[in-house]
This record gives sequence, C-alpha cells and structure tokens, in this order.
Amino acid sequence: ARKHAERWVNSTCGYCSVGCGMQLGVRENKVVSVRGNPHHPVNRGKLCPKGLAEHYAIEAEGRALYPLLRRDGALTRVSWDDALSTMAERFRAVQEKHGPESIGVISTGQLVTEEFYTLGKLVQLGIGTRHYDGNTTLCMSTAVAGYKRSFGSDGPPGAYQDLELADVILLIGANIAENHPILCTRLEANKSKTLIVVDPRVTKTAMMADLHLPIKPRSDLALINAMLRVIIDEHLYNESYVDAHTSGFDELRSSLEPYTLEYAAGITGLDEPLIRRVAHLCAGARAPFIGWTMGVNHSTKGTETVNAINNLALLTGSVGRAGASPFSITGQCNAMGTREAGFSSSLPGYRKFESEDHRNELAQIWNIDASCIPAARGLAYPDIIEAAVAGRIRALWIIGTNPIVSFPNIDVLRHALGNLDFLVVQDGFHPTPTTELAHLVLPAAIWGEKEGSYTNSERRVSKVNKAVNPPAEARSDFDIFLQLADKLGCREELFPQWQRPSDAFEEWRRVSSGRLCDYSGMTYDAIESSGGIQWPFTATSPDDPSSTRRLYADGHFETEDTRARLIPTHWAPFPEQPSSEFPFVLNTGRTVEHWHTRTKTGAISILQQLSPRAWLEMNPTDAVRLNLKPHDRVDIVSARGRVNRVELRVTEIIAAGQVFLPFHFAETNANQVTQSAFDPISREPNFKQCAVRVEKS
Ligand code: SF4
Repeated sequence: ARKHAERWVNSTCGYCSVGCGMQLGVRENKVVSVRGNPHHPVNRGKLCPKGLAEHYAIEAEGRALYPLLRRDGALTRVSWDDALSTMAERFRAVQEKHGPESIGVISTGQLVTEEFYTLGKLVQLGIGTRHYDGNTTLCMSTAVAGYKRSFGSDGPPGAYQDLELADVILLIGANIAENHPILCTRLEANKSKTLIVVDPRVTKTAMMADLHLPIKPRSDLALINAMLRVIIDEHLYNESYVDAHTSGFDELRSSLEPYTLEYAAGITGLDEPLIRRVAHLCAGARAPFIGWTMGVNHSTKGTETVNAINNLALLTGSVGRAGASPFSITGQCNAMGTREAGFSSSLPGYRKFESEDHRNELAQIWNIDASCIPAARGLAYPDIIEAAVAGRIRALWIIGTNPIVSFPNIDVLRHALGNLDFLVVQDGFHPTPTTELAHLVLPAAIWGEKEGSYTNSERRVSKVNKAVNPPAEARSDFDIFLQLADKLGCREELFPQWQRPSDAFEEWRRVSSGRLCDYSGMTYDAIESSGGIQWPFTATSPDDPSSTRRLYADGHFETEDTRARLIPTHWAPFPEQPSSEFPFVLNTGRTVEHWHTRTKTGAISILQQLSPRAWLEMNPTDAVRLNLKPHDRVDIVSARGRVNRVELRVTEIIAAGQVFLPFHFAETNANQVTQSAFDPISREPNFKQCAVRVEKS
C-alpha cells in the first residue's frame, strides 16, 4: 500500500524546462510520493506523467553507489580519496605530456546552476582547459546563437503567460503536447487564439491546431522567408518599430527576392494561398507568439531559421509585448541556467570571451589575474569529439549525460572514447552505456538528493531542494567539484570557504549583477516564497517578485547601438537527400513518457509499461509498396549503420516518403543511423533528417 508522507519538501521538476513546482512527500527518509505545488506560478498544481512518477527514480534499480576505477580491465570499487586523487593525477599527467588543452569536459543541463557555475570555474581556471561544453549543444545552442545574432544576447524575450494572451500562436517544429505537456495546458486555456502548427508530422500538437502546415522536412526556412516577403511586399510590417529599433531592413528585403510564393510552395509542398494567409494572420495579429523547439534547432540551418523567426517578430514589432514574442521552448530542466552561468559559448552573465572589459570585470570579482581567463571559447561538444578522434583530446570528463545513446552517428563517438587515455563518467546511474566504457565512474546524487536552483524557459529561477540523502557513497555534484578542486590544489583560490551551494549562489548573484540575466535582487528565501522569480531581478527592483517580466519591451536590445539586427538567411536542402538506396527521410523525436536516453524513466516501471519499446511510423502507401504490415519488425538502415527489429506502426500521422523513430531507446538506438552534420554557427547536430531504407527483419 502507498505510504503517506510525514513531511513535504518544495522543489522543482528535474526533467523538462517547463519548470513545474512540486512537493516531495518524505517518510522514513524515503521520497514516497510527489504532487504538484498548487502555489507555483508555472504549473499551479499540475504535473505530467513523468513528473508524477519522478520520485521512483530515486529508489530505482541501477543507481551508481560507489566510485569505481578500472583495474585489469574491470571496474573496481575504490574510496573517494583514491578516485579523486587518481583523477587529478591522470589529468595532470595527460596535460604534462600533451598540453593543458588536451582535456575535454562535457556537462549537462541537469546540473543546478550553482553546480554549473562551480564546475565552469574549476574547468577553465583550475584544470586549465577551454574545451568545455554541455549536452545543451545537442538541443538549444541554436536558439542561443540565433538570439545573440538578432538581439545581441541570449535570453528568450517572452513569458509563458504569452501563450494565454496571444491571438495568433505559430508553433514551428514544437510538439509541446508531448514534450512540454504542462505548458500545453496554457495553450488550451486560451480559447480566442488561432493556433498554427508547422510540422511535417501530424503530432498531438498539430491535432490541436486551427491550421496545420505539413511542410516537407527542413523547409521551414523557405516558408518563413516567403512570409517575410509577403509582409514586406504588401507593406504589412510595423514600419515605425522597424525604423526605430532595427537595422538591416534593406539587406533583408533584397535577400528575400528569390522567396516568391511559387518558389516557397515548391520547397515546402504547401499551397501558395495558404502561405500568404499565414503571413497575413501573423502580420495582422494583435499579439503573435512564435514558439519553436527541436524541429528548428536540430538542423544544419537551425541558427538561420531562428534568425528568420526573429526577423518575423521584429518586422511585426512583436518582441517584449504581452502575448507577442519569439520564444524558444528549451529542453532540459536547467539548460537555461547553464546558458546564464556560462563558461562554454559565453563567459558567466552572457559576457563575451572576446571582450577585454568583460574579462577584467570577472577577474576583479574573482580576485585573479585577467590573463587567466580565456579570450576565445574552446571547442564545442561535436568538436571535442572530433578532437578526441584525432588524438588532440586525450582525457575526457562526462557529467550527467549519456552520449553513447544521445550523440549522432554513434560509431564516431565510440571511436573517440576508445582513443582516450582516461575517461571519467560522473552519473547518478551505473551501468549506463557510457559509464560502462569509463576508466573512472563517480557516483552522483540526483534530483531530490541535492540543493540549488533551475531556470526555466521563461527565465524563471526556481528552487531545488534536498529531500533525502543520496544512496550509499554517492555525493552531490557540487561536493565532487569542490573535492576535486582540493586535490588539484585550487580550492582556496577559486572557492574560498565555500561549503554549500548557497556560497556559489551568492557569488553568482554578484557576477550576474548589471547583466541582462541579473539575479542580484534574488535570495533563496524570496525564490521559495514566490515560487520562482524571472530575471532580470535587480537589488533595486521595485516590483513584486511574482510579476511577469519580458525582455526588450522598450525596444532597446543588447547590441552596441541598441538596435536589433534583421539578418538575411538562405534556405538550402538538408545535407543527406533520399536516394534509390536510401529512399526515406528519417525524422527522430520523443514521447511523453520518457526522458532523453531513459536512464531514469526506463527504470520507472509505470513509465516503462506505458512505453516499453521504440516504434517506426510509416505511411500506409509506403507500407503497401514494401509489403509490410502493422507490428512487423523492421530494420532501419543508413549509410552509417542499422537499427534492428523495431515494431512498425502504419499510420497517416507521417507523410509518404518519411519515417519517424523515437530516440530514447538504447537497444534500438536512432543514433546508429543519424549523421555527423552540424549547424556551422551553433554546432548543433542535424538529428532530424537523414536518408534510410526500411527492411523487414
Ligand atoms: Fe516535469 Fe516538464 Fe512534466 Fe512539468 S511538464 S512535470 S517540468 S516533465
């Protein structure tokens, strides 16, 4: 029988970026239930199936319990002291032999901001390598790069409330009914909107739409550019806003010359009048909201597509107004916090590596010589992997992510990891496909076992609290970072007298002060009592912490002249087109029951029962042609590899010539067939399109 809780601990969900407030019910030092926090401003008491089952992850099978060091080929239990001494010695030995930058570090949007900030200092100033990035590059680096180019800084301008206030909502490559379910309830609550969903697949979100635009794969950029051309040609844009707050209008107009309705109709497969109608709906709206997720980001044209979305918002004067915003709906619970706290594509507080002033500001706060701070970012995640293949990265530290399932074209990653002199994997679970390859496994606490804060997609900082101790010898990531700093001899210099995450939070507040992501007015108490505070929230913010904030409401952006940039963009076909050998376009994505590579949700019985295995969606016309029937087992084959024995679903959800495979399942890993193709600006992988054939198993 289910046990009743003795006490309830407020916290924030550790899965997606919606950032639902929840309460963990504790009895006899176990988390026995969770419930939505009715007072939290994000979810008002609601939780989705993953959130409702989240406490089961704490007691799940397969938790990492002890540090393990590979000896004579086998992972063997060692003490923490041995583990961290060995790690420090091996890293230093690699650096002595191959140079300071022969170490790479890949972290995660699952860390709390306090941990991420601590890790960044440790890696860049303590270990002394720039080659530091996170699994966020596999999901949101494109949004980051797009915002920086258009607005001068990262940071989604809008708020969740905009979904309730908008009169036109355009969702591009965003299946929020499946992937951000509690955010989707805001969409349902808005009864007066026109919902337009752009997606090649008839997703659950597309089924809710007033207008579904089933575009051909990777044709969104041509669609948006054709809409922009209609808006300019028919003088539907907000001329006074464009004149006052943007630059680059003439260049944008010239670049749109090729994007006639006829040209875009050929690329997208949509009718010309439909494209024109959607352009008119967006331009004529009182408050248009344009949201997107991985359908846009997972592409070699992702950053340009984000810029085209921002162009659409700017031309219609729809940035920072109630209901009107371009809005990236983030993936992980704290992908946003990792972006703010920096150290990978930016320095902390969205500062630039290239800016001497920014480096001097940080050096002063940290009381170090400014020359210690790198003047250029290091390698992005895919480039760290390529450097390992080439032998330039010789030791790697992977934290809270499972790339053997999540990285594209997985054999390249296997080759890279096999090349390393030393691989450390820090995770809450063991074995995982990645920890099994490690020389050293560090057991980490997970959600419910540690303290800090997350920032959600609308820039709301929410508190994460510890309800129970981690199992056996697992430790919080924060403690592991400080103890490694001890072994490296840099703890006193970089983290003087730090003992708790609140020490990191206090320094981070000072570092963020005066920046767009200003936390200086926040305290843990204020965050707890309001349920979460959106940044910027300065020490002198006169307003209520629970009030809704938007960026750029005054039309001033983070560029040098305060004007937003209208950026010309150019559509191109996706890199691997179907052929006679590989005639289908493979799309990959998610299901509501699972999270990423199922390390946690695959160990939770109720979620696993709801969604026990992968499937392949295929249109009935293709199934008839290949003589395949529903429930047949099929293999999916690309030029790089093969996924075996996947159950076939024959459905009109997917168009002829396309197939869809969820990416969560290690045993039928979609990344056996995906390709090594990356956005040249953000370095995000093109997970969404590759050419495959389907064979009966
Ligand atoms: Fe957690 Fe996201 Fe579900 Fe909310 S919608 S309960 S944040 S997984």
